[in-house]
Amino acid sequence: MLQRTHGAAGVLAAEWVLHVYEVPLLSWETAGALMLGCFAGPLADIDKPGSVMAKLFFPLSALLRLLQIHHRTLTHSFAFLALLGMALMPLPPLYFWTFLLAYASHPLIDLLNEQGVALFWPVKKKVRLLPKFMAIDTGSPMESLFCFILVVLCFWLPIRDWWHGTF
Ligand SMILES: [Zn+2]
Repeated sequence: MLQRTHGAAGVLAAEWVLHVYEVPLLSWETAGALMLGCFAGPLADIDKPGSVMAKLFFPLSALLRLLQIHHRTLTHSFAFLALLGMALMPLPPLYFWTFLLAYASHPLIDLLNEQGVALFWPVKKKVRLLPKFMAIDTGSPMESLFCFILVVLCFWLPIRDWWHGTF
């Protein structure tokens, strides 16, 4: 999936956490969590040469390449999520869950892709959720539609909470 799709999924994950913690819409916590979600969503693609995240964290992405860690393996796996969870422990709960769930949204939506994800890495077998003919190809019109739905949800969720007076 493209960076923008993962960004939207990360923001949605952040909004869900904000909803659970009943954080007011107009607050620094909301701004911080939304930015964190937008950043953590595409982060797993640090393993994809040429991606924005690989460029942003160049020494790290170069190291992954050197170690022959391929795209959609280590950084997209349950094992890495567990490690990340441990590393994020010192964060306050709101940011801990925002980061972890926004990051987890990445391999989750990559499962809809034709190539699948090595969720159980170091087991190399890639898993995919949809049969090939239904899978969403990276950059395809289907992905644009999927991304659009995510963006609509990103607007709908806070508006709904505001309407119901949760925020
Ligand atoms: Zn990915």
